[in-house]
Amino acid sequence: MSELRLYNTLSRTRERFEPLDPAQVGVYSCGPTVYSHQHLGNMRAYVFADLLKRTLRWFGWEVRHVINITDVGHLTDDADEGEDKMEVAARRSGESAWDVAERWTAIFKRDLERLRVLEPDVWCRATDHIDEQIEMIRRLEARGFTYVTADGVYFDVSKDPGYGELARLRLDEQAPGERIEHADVKRNRADFALWKLSPADGAQRQMEWDSPWGRGFPGWHIECSAMSTRYLGEQFDIHTGGVDHIPVHHTNEIAQSENALEVRPWVRFWMHGGWLMFNDEKMSKSRGSVRTLDDLIADGVDPGAFRFFLLGAHYRQQMSFTDEALQGARTAHARLLRRAAELRASEDSRGAEHVEGYRERFREALADDLNAPRALAVVWEVVRSGELGDVQKHELLSDLDEVLGLGLADAELPEGESDARIDGLVRERDEARAARDFARADALRDQLQAEGIVLEDSPDGTRWRRG
Ligand code: AMP
Ligand code: ZN
Repeated sequence: MSELRLYNTLSRTRERFEPLDPAQVGVYSCGPTVYSHQHLGNMRAYVFADLLKRTLRWFGWEVRHVINITDVGHLTDDADEGEDKMEVAARRSGESAWDVAERWTAIFKRDLERLRVLEPDVWCRATDHIDEQIEMIRRLEARGFTYVTADGVYFDVSKDPGYGELARLRLDEQAPGERIEHADVKRNRADFALWKLSPADGAQRQMEWDSPWGRGFPGWHIECSAMSTRYLGEQFDIHTGGVDHIPVHHTNEIAQSENALEVRPWVRFWMHGGWLMFNDEKMSKSRGSVRTLDDLIADGVDPGAFRFFLLGAHYRQQMSFTDEALQGARTAHARLLRRAAELRASEDSRGAEHVEGYRERFREALADDLNAPRALAVVWEVVRSGELGDVQKHELLSDLDEVLGLGLADAELPEGESDARIDGLVRERDEARAARDFARADALRDQLQAEGIVLEDSPDGTRWRRG
C-alpha cells in the first residue's frame, strides 16, 4: 500500500510521513486573527488543514488537531510596528475588544461548519494562555536569548545560529546600512517582540496583563509556541499555515520554541497552503479585494460547492477565484451529489471484487502530498464505472467522502425531485405521441433533456435514465 508522503517546507521535498508517536498524530494550525470577517482565502487555509486531518485519519491514525484563535498581539504590521488589530477594530466599532473577538470567532466557527471542516480537538485563545506565554519568555530570558528595551522584550536572532532555516533566510546577506525597523529598539533587523509594554503615554489598552517586565501584552508569535506546546507536547508532528507565515511567523515560532524547549526539530513537518487569488492578486483584507462565504450564500451558492471548488486544485498551488471557475465547480458538484443520491435507491450490488482497485488509486492520489484533484478524478471514475453496481458505488463513495467531506454518503435528490415526477413527464410524452400531438411531445422531451434525462424509445414504451 502506498505510504503517505507530505511536502515539508523545512526540507523543500516530499518526505514519507511517520508520526513521532504511533498512537496519535499532533497537528497545529495557525488560526485567524478575529478582528473582522475571514474571507474565502482564509477559508482555503482551513479546508487544506481539514483535508490533511481527514487524510491522516483515513490512513488509520488518530489525530489531535489544535487551532488557535489570535485575539491579542497581532499588530497591523507583522514587523512589530503599528497597532494591535483587535484594539483598532474595537475603537472603530465601539464594542470592547473582547466582544469583537467573541463575535468574529463565532462567525469563523460557523463558516468552518458550513464548509464541513471537522471541529478541532482543541480550540485555544491567546488571551486564555498569557501565563504559558510569560513562562516561555522567562525560559528564553534565562537562556540569554532576549533583551529588554523601553518598548518591550525582544528576541535576539543573532544568538540563534539556526535562525531563519525554514525560510532559508541569510541574515549575513542583508545589505549593510539597510533600514532597521524600530532602529531605536532593535539590535538586529529580524529581532521580534516577545512582550510589548502598554504605551506609556496614557493611551489605555483594553487587553493588557502584568508581567515580570511590566504591564503589556504578548507578541504575536509567542502564543503559537506556547499553546502548541501546552496541547501537543514539546515536539510534535505537523504545523500548518499559509505561505505568508514562512518568513516571519513560523520562522519566529521555531526560534522561540527550539531555544526555550531545547529541542530540534521542534516540529517535524511544516506544511503551507497556497494563495487564493482574486482579480490577479492575493485575496486580502488589507487590499480590500475579498469575498466571504456569506457573499456566496447570498448569491445562492452552496458552501459545499465552494469546498468542491477548493479541492479542485492542489493545496500548494496558487488558485484563482473567478465566477466562471466557481460556476463550473457548482455544476460538477451538483451533478456529483445527484449521482450519489440516485445510487442509494438501487440494489445492484455487482462488482465487489473491483472496489479495492479504486480505493487504492484514491489512496495513491492522497499519498502523493494530498493530491485532491487526482482523488476527485477517481471519484468520477467510480461514478461512471460500468463494472461496479450502484450499491458498491455508494459504499465506496461514502468511504472516500470521509476524506473529501462533500456529504456524498447522505446526499439527497433536490427537493421536489423524484423519480415519480420524471415517470409522470415521460408518460405524458408517450400519451402526447400516441395522440399525435408532436409539438407537446417534443416540448416535454426538451424539458427532460434540459434536466439531463436521456430517453430511450423502445417497442414496449419509453425508458429513461440520467445522462
Ligand atoms: P489571518 O487571519 O490574516 O492571520 O489569516 C488566517 C489564515 O489565512 C492564514 O493561514 C493565512 O495564511 C491564510 N490566508 C490569508 N489570505 C489568504 C489567501 N488569499 N489565500 C490563502 N490563504 C490565505
Ligand atoms: Zn501561529
